[in-house]
Amino acid sequence: MALIVQKYGGTSVGSVERIQAVAERVYKTVKAGNSVVVVVSAMGKTTDGLVKLANTISPNPNRREMDMLLSTGEQVTIALLSMALQELGQPAISLTGAQVGIVTEAEHTRARILHIETERLTRNLQQGKVVVVAGFQGISSTEELEITTLGRGGSDTSAVAVAAALGANFCEIYTDVPGILTTDPRLVPEAQLMDEITCNEMLELASLGAKVLHPRAVEIARNYGVPLVVRSSWTDTPGTWVTSVKPQGRSLINLEIARPVDHVEFDTDQAKVALLRVPDKPGVAARLFGEIARQKVDVDLIIQSIHEGNSNDIAFTVTTPILKRAEAVAAAIAPALRSQSNPKSDEAEVIVEQNTAKVSIAGAGMIGRPGVAAKMFATLAEAGVNIQMISTSEVKVSCVVDAVDCDRAVKALQAVFEIEAKEQGARGQEGQGGQGGQGRIIEKTSRFSPYSPTLSLPPSTPSVRGVALDMNQARLAIRQLQDRPGMAAKLFGLLAQHNISVDMIIQSQRCRVIDGVPTRDIAFTVSRMDGENAKELLSQVAEQLGWGEVVLDNAIAKVSIVGAGMIGQPGVAAKMFEALAQQQINIQMIATSEIKISCVVTQDQGTKALQAIHTAFGLAGSEKFVVPA
Ligand code: ADP
Ligand code: ASP
Ligand code: MG
Repeated sequence: MALIVQKYGGTSVGSVERIQAVAERVYKTVKAGNSVVVVVSAMGKTTDGLVKLANTISPNPNRREMDMLLSTGEQVTIALLSMALQELGQPAISLTGAQVGIVTEAEHTRARILHIETERLTRNLQQGKVVVVAGFQGISSTEELEITTLGRGGSDTSAVAVAAALGANFCEIYTDVPGILTTDPRLVPEAQLMDEITCNEMLELASLGAKVLHPRAVEIARNYGVPLVVRSSWTDTPGTWVTSVKPQGRSLINLEIARPVDHVEFDTDQAKVALLRVPDKPGVAARLFGEIARQKVDVDLIIQSIHEGNSNDIAFTVTTPILKRAEAVAAAIAPALRSQSNPKSDEAEVIVEQNTAKVSIAGAGMIGRPGVAAKMFATLAEAGVNIQMISTSEVKVSCVVDAVDCDRAVKALQAVFEIEAKEQGARGQEGQGGQGGQGRIIEKTSRFSPYSPTLSLPPSTPSVRGVALDMNQARLAIRQLQDRPGMAAKLFGLLAQHNISVDMIIQSQRCRVIDGVPTRDIAFTVSRMDGENAKELLSQVAEQLGWGEVVLDNAIAKVSIVGAGMIGQPGVAAKMFEALAQQQINIQMIATSEIKISCVVTQDQGTKALQAIHTAFGLAGSEKFVVPA
């Protein structure tokens, strides 16, 4: 006998017939000897309808009232499903978030779960009832009963959090596709189903646009070791398991806002190669990284920034022992790249910096909390450390800095994020740390960290597990930011104060001296929703801080590949860039972290880019997928 949490999404409960079908499935699960808590979404596109309704009254509705409105959607489903179960002879009770005691922060429309009372759930289960819980909602206080919602798609998060709180045997997410596929089958019908995927990979995919799971649900599953499976509510196929290592007793208090950083990591064995002024046209990155792969040079971070005019900068890091080879490849290819574009323009130039180090903070608690990266930048600024390159993933922020600054940077970060120094040099196991465990400092982890779990990967792990497309991003660029400690901290601190999360932060490698002060451009992506707001905020302070123009581009798409198996495998990046080049798709920005590579392209080329990359990595199956209407 197991305790199972089942979550049914909007389409799975989209009609009375569907609700009855769900009731049958729940009933069967109970008859097989299990206790079941069901978490449901609003029926079909109800929530979208409610949002539209609000917008007919106000373009910018009050967030408290928005929560009051949106939480009604789920309340309809819980009552109907309970009735359907009772019709089958199965005792059942519906409970709202408030009735369960799902306590959240007081942040309307985007609240994080603090903790979940289990008493009423357990009591009803013991009485042999199925408990049907409204997903997506909570209350900010058990006295005032202020209704909050978790953010769109948040029912997945409710379900996994309930499973963690109850110590359920597993959590099943029922949806309209048979599991997690190599990409969105609505865009690429040849996408294939996977049997399993690690939490780390799924975290990246979910936050890079794979809507099948809410990233925060994956985060909770990972932090609490909740076994998680995504399945179709139409069939009995086994679905996809999202695997995680069972962590050591993590507190259930402050469930979603536990300590943000578990580790500080550093690697002093890094060198940076930058190519300046390469032509801004399809095929350039493919050529460069194709040659690098042929020479078996394993690159770590890659960034390509946008720039004024018709040229780009591309930079990458390698470990010091292979620097000479990497430099030789870059030097050999640079003149060829230049002559292709405009032979009269300034020359492509190769710059090598030997004495660099990479310093990173890692932890699943930083997801969706822009203040964490901002705090890292501020800490480095206070320690007088200049940041040369920034690479971000959902669970990690890495900065390339001068090697001489490494010690100081690590000590400062350790102090500010309350990481103990005693295990210095040790290599941790995946999944530890956090509220229950100790934070750690880990040395030399460029491609081998607890957050890139190669330690436990079977040799058959594919280099690329899935491909995701995010069409809801905007790109911001700030021209001529002074190149000195503290600029990134100011910029991202300001955005964090307004709760704007940033991704793909890239500084140009080219340095332009204006009035004797070296400056660089910086570009990053934000959710499109935040674009205008971010632009305005930054424009307001630009003059006072001596920044140049702030430029917003909404017509972008971000396409990403994710796979833990890409670590230590030269050629993966080259293959991605080559697939885009073959379709004549120009890459505007490149950013990598250990288990993902993202490229920004123009919005109208997004789907084509996704399809090309999906095919290039051999992920397409022979069968075509049809998503139920
Ligand atoms: P629910 O209403 O059940 O929560 P969602 O619409 O939120 O369902 O998520 C399911 C949808 O996610 C699928 O219909 C599919 O179009 C989309 N999707 C995006 N990426 C993937 C992927 N990699 N695997 C499966 N589905 C995906
Ligand atoms: N009904 C909410 C939404 O549409 C929550 C969910 O379905 O996950 O966003
Ligand atoms: Mg969903």
